[in-house]
Amino acid sequence: MPRPIQAHINLSALENNLRMARRAAPSARIMAVIKADGYGHGLMRTAGALSAADGFALLNMQDAVQLREAGFRQTILLLEGAFNAEDLALAARYDLACVVHSAWQLAMLDAYPEREKLDVWLKVNSGMNRLGFAPQQAAQALEQLRRHRAVRDITLMTHFANADEPRGIAEPLALFNNFATSYRVPRSLANSAALLRYPEAHGDWVRPGLMLYGASPFIDVSAQQLGLQPAMTLRSRIIAVQELRAGDEIGYGALFRAEHAMRVGIVACGYADGYPRHALNGTPLLADGQMTQTLGRVSMDMLYADLSRLPQVDVGSAVTLWGEGLPVEEVARAAGTVSYELMCALTARVPVVC
Ligand SMILES: *Cc1c(COP(=O)(O)O)cnc(C)c1O
Repeated sequence: MPRPIQAHINLSALENNLRMARRAAPSARIMAVIKADGYGHGLMRTAGALSAADGFALLNMQDAVQLREAGFRQTILLLEGAFNAEDLALAARYDLACVVHSAWQLAMLDAYPEREKLDVWLKVNSGMNRLGFAPQQAAQALEQLRRHRAVRDITLMTHFANADEPRGIAEPLALFNNFATSYRVPRSLANSAALLRYPEAHGDWVRPGLMLYGASPFIDVSAQQLGLQPAMTLRSRIIAVQELRAGDEIGYGALFRAEHAMRVGIVACGYADGYPRHALNGTPLLADGQMTQTLGRVSMDMLYADLSRLPQVDVGSAVTLWGEGLPVEEVARAAGTVSYELMCALTARVPVVC
């Protein structure tokens, strides 16, 4: 028997979630965000399942070229733009749109000798202070792009820091709109949270990532309530059972001590598979379909499951670490992180099945 851990990728869940994005933003084009290897779901299989999207957004040039060479005809956007002149030449050759977020990229474009045309997405910093030109500088950057011989279509974009938070997007939206209103140029603002919660921010292109993978961006609304289906289910099995007596301890650092006799299952899944090491005692998991919890410290290849109230669970029983039946958001919360990080962290040694 091979080591039993597997990540199941549900392609029809990806398709369903894309339909949900369309339903929520019917007037916008959809730029499916597939950076970080499709949030850990696999670049090509994710793009294939989401092939009804109007565009794909990612960071890596090789990935973008691979998509083109595989025959995807949609808009492909490089979210951090070009890093050097060679990237610009490749972007032109493969028709990849480039974000322009900084003055150094404008300077690089100015020195770009090619005659082949480029599409650019000018990024406006609306308060997140990560990438983009402040509105005052963006006007000049836009003029510079418009005068540029090699620049074809221009789209204005921004990104929200708090679309999933109670604070919302009112301030950055006003800032962006106030700038963009002077120009007849397509606009793109919304990530998953803004797409789902703020129709006024839909613009011409929405940029959902997380929701396509079936996780909710909100603390107070579940994925199920949003009609989303988990695309990734991480499964393994119990490979050993320990019968503890009162006072026995488990794991590195003895973080858990049994108060009475109890059964503990050893699950073939650890941080080298991408399960968070900082998940505390009490992180939820399913054993044979029943909700239970981790105990002690996660080790490289294994973790401990509380089987006290699950006498039917034994060696060979199925375990779900997250996904179908156990939202990744709940595991993330217990581990002090976000679902994005858990999905992206899946490591190469975990076999994927579709
Ligand atoms: C990652 C990313 C998105 C997608 O965000 P989600 O919260 O996953 O929907 C959208 N826009 C930009 C610029 C991003 O970097």
